Amino acid sequence: MVSKVSALAEPGPELEQAAAPVISVQNLVHRYETRTALNGVSFDVRPAELFGLLGPNGSGKTTLFRILSTLMIPTGGRAVVMGCDAAQDPASLRRQIGVVFQAQSVDAKLTAYENLWHQGHLYGLRGSTLKQRVGEILARVGLADRAKERVETFSGGMQRRIELAKGLLHHPGVLLLDEPTTGLDPGARRDLWQYLQMLRDEEHVSVLVTTHLMEEAERCDRLAIMNEGNLVALGTPTELKSEIGGDVILLDAAHDAGLLAEHIQARFHVEATVMGNQVRIEREGGHRFVPDVVEAFPGEIQAISVSKPALEDVFIHRTGHKFWSEEREANSADEKKDKKKKRR
Ligand code: ADP
Repeated sequence: MVSKVSALAEPGPELEQAAAPVISVQNLVHRYETRTALNGVSFDVRPAELFGLLGPNGSGKTTLFRILSTLMIPTGGRAVVMGCDAAQDPASLRRQIGVVFQAQSVDAKLTAYENLWHQGHLYGLRGSTLKQRVGEILARVGLADRAKERVETFSGGMQRRIELAKGLLHHPGVLLLDEPTTGLDPGARRDLWQYLQMLRDEEHVSVLVTTHLMEEAERCDRLAIMNEGNLVALGTPTELKSEIGGDVILLDAAHDAGLLAEHIQARFHVEATVMGNQVRIEREGGHRFVPDVVEAFPGEIQAISVSKPALEDVFIHRTGHKFWSEEREANSADEKKDKKKKRR
């Protein structure tokens, strides 16, 4: 997205600096042999923003994450983090970012303190500076009192917080996290998000986090929603949901959803989308529409629901299909098997 700067006056250096994005993804394309994983994706992340990359399995989140963390060079386009181009200047970029991967990177046999001590050495920190920083960061993630305990004795949530601390040790301006709450229980998930919000508010770190969970996406300042390698929506959760006019009405068809949708369209002149055995309609004053539609088609409707738009509705609105589809999950599982076979 292009930053909006007043057309009336030339921006001064301060304004330009304030508007400069910390991450700029420009027409990014990535292909694995014949498969296109990213198909010209563009967006900016602003300073001290909690930015979410939301998409179902196979939408391209991990590919984008790997490009931003300099593990892969894109087929086309550019990814720039704090002024450093991921393909041209990966070494400088790495100094600007902290990364938390999905897979565990802490050494469970070492204490929390030892894990961070070794991490600090990798970034050239030594002696009292390192000692002080490890103390600070352990306090930041609420584990100062557990510093001397082995990480294997920690809960899943606490281990993730050590991962977070490792990513933050060298004071990066940007933190990248790939599905950081995978495997955590709901309480630990909430906790981790509170830490991310605190980092944004108190340390002014910009956070980019990938997720396939709607409730996590709701917590982000802004979201990029991905589908099959394309950016399908960009904005705050509230902005995105407000683009849907009124309510979302879902009807379970008693017989044939396609036929029911046709009848509804012809009778009420509304757009009706078929999704499996359901018909979906977006309409103002949904509660007023319900009695009319039930009366018009007796015996054709098995169940009906009216709700305020959620992020899932934004996804359906933009793509015409559900966020989770069995077919897509099956394809994704097959592709994963293929990838494993290729690696062998
Ligand atoms: P997500 O993280 O959203 O699940 P990915 O970036 O992992 O999406 O995958 C995007 C697409 O690229 C999928 O179709 C996936 O199967 C494919 N893909 C990912 N990694 C590889 C690879 N190493 N080789 C071939 N195809 C891949």
